[in-house]
Amino acid sequence: MYSGGVDSVGVLYRLLTDDAYAAFAIRVHHMQLINREKRAAAEKQAVNQTLKLFAGKKFRPFTFTHCLHDYSFMKRDMIWDMDIANFMAANICAGDRDIVHVARGRTRTDLKTGGEMLLKRSERAMNIFNAIIEPSKSEATIIYPVIDLDKTEIWQMLPKPFREASWYCRTPIYDKAGKAYPCNRCVTCREMREVYEACGEKPPVLPKGLVPTPKEGIRAVVKRVQTSRATFTKKAAMKKA
Ligand SMILES: [Zn+2]
Repeated sequence: MYSGGVDSVGVLYRLLTDDAYAAFAIRVHHMQLINREKRAAAEKQAVNQTLKLFAGKKFRPFTFTHCLHDYSFMKRDMIWDMDIANFMAANICAGDRDIVHVARGRTRTDLKTGGEMLLKRSERAMNIFNAIIEPSKSEATIIYPVIDLDKTEIWQMLPKPFREASWYCRTPIYDKAGKAYPCNRCVTCREMREVYEACGEKPPVLPKGLVPTPKEGIRAVVKRVQTSRATFTKKAAMKKA
């Protein structure tokens, strides 16, 4: 399952270069997830750019498929990406028994900083995966090719063009041409700031004129949801009339 994110690019880099995976036929699947974080376009740019690099002669061959999940109508809540990724992966494996492993991008950093929340979310996502796999004829399992690395080590493993082409921010800012920039304030941007520092590098800065979206307070969220509900009801009433 490929997102174009740094961890995910690290996984694919290992799968296509490490001798331990030389006998594997690699199928890359990108699940484009449209939600209120507006990450989908930035991730798609990263997927396209990194796969172009992986298509070079230095790497083993792979095939590519993708799907689109549009949940942009959810204004307040979101579907957890880990849940939906495991749901999709399990269904793909149940339908194609040639697939024996699903590679996911968990890192040593996730294990260290994820805490209780990550454990709970992982358990739920695994239950979703197993609920579909167990009654099927698939014996697919989930593997974690970069679980021994922390984020900094993944960054150091990737050649510079791959680092520049991969994505990490949860709430990207887009310029007029649609190019995505990291917000430099979300949780993954904060994690990456430490990675850049450890490697003696500087995170990309927002071009002049682009400002991060202000963090939305709970009152603003409630107001936005109420307005959106009122508009929806009004539109439905007009349709009826
Ligand atoms: Zn960010």
